[in-house]
Amino acid sequence: MSRYWSDFVTQLQPYTPGEQPKISNLTKLNTNENPYGPSPDALAAMQRLLNDDLRLYPPPNAEDLKQCIADYHSLSADQIFVGNGSDEVLAHIFNGLLKQQLPLLFPDISYSFYPVFCQLYDIQYSRVPLDGEFSIVLQDYQRPNGGIIFPNPNAPTGRLLALDDIAQLLEVNRDSVVVVDEAYIDFGGTSAVSLLGRYENLVVVHTLSKSRSLAGMRIGYAMASAAIIEGLERVKNSFNSYPLGHLQIAAAIASFKDDSYFRSTCAQVISSRDSLTVELQSLGFEVLPSAANFVFARHSARDSEDLALQLRQQGLIVRHFKTDRIDQFLRITVGTAEQNLLLTESLARILA
Ligand SMILES: *Cc1c(COP(=O)(O)O)cnc(C)c1O
Repeated sequence: MSRYWSDFVTQLQPYTPGEQPKISNLTKLNTNENPYGPSPDALAAMQRLLNDDLRLYPPPNAEDLKQCIADYHSLSADQIFVGNGSDEVLAHIFNGLLKQQLPLLFPDISYSFYPVFCQLYDIQYSRVPLDGEFSIVLQDYQRPNGGIIFPNPNAPTGRLLALDDIAQLLEVNRDSVVVVDEAYIDFGGTSAVSLLGRYENLVVVHTLSKSRSLAGMRIGYAMASAAIIEGLERVKNSFNSYPLGHLQIAAAIASFKDDSYFRSTCAQVISSRDSLTVELQSLGFEVLPSAANFVFARHSARDSEDLALQLRQQGLIVRHFKTDRIDQFLRITVGTAEQNLLLTESLARILA
């Protein structure tokens, strides 16, 4: 607190990211990072740019990257918006598209950055409860709204909403923007990108932080109709003309071009997720069906906050949310086979 702060800053309650510990010998399964590195091609592309040309500003509109992403998803370049991590892309979406007269709708259990953006931009919102199985109830979104946003697969539950259901949601919500935050879609879901041709109010958001293992580079993008993208560009060009630097652009393009690396690392994560799920179940956990690179699990007999604490003492960090309805769950990022073994061995010791 300082008397120099504005009233606005004084009342802000910022988002709390998962811990990034200083000590390196911890097994970090708390922020859904990819256990495998980025494509070697992405690393090499960045290395090639470590020279005096970094004195130059990057291209403000990242045309090459937009074209690359457009080609990858069979869209046109004017349907792509890029930003400094999808959190920044989301911020511009909240500010430019979701601030309306009617309240924005999102699930009660969802990405905890959404209410923070609402506070930052003074957006009215209403949380729509998930059902007892933590699934989205479509009918509950069939009411006047100023926009709808949800992650798919949802975070932190991992549950996937089927493409047909998203199409149904769009069918009854033609007058407001529907944003599908697909941070984890590459781990087993079908992207709503294929619906863009049919619904001009759909916005799909992707990140290179999870499935492309570039969280440290901060690259995200949105896909929508050219008219919606033009609106986002207006916000971006009123905020930061150069959100992506030379290295980010080069790393992203190289990652998209190395499709075999991308596919094989995603496949490994999916296979590890499925075996981790079985292991956790045999240790007495209920595990929600996950289409993401994490699982959301609760133990039948043990307090989850206590389990998280004991894991921490054994050098493993997982995420626990002190939030209503989910405070008995742990969100565990899928690691390498070795990391997952460390986790299940530690849990077996703690539970013994
Ligand atoms: C990780 C995550 C993001 C943010 O990703 P960045 O691109 O790293 O900012 C956005 N939405 C959800 C649901 C996420 O889990």
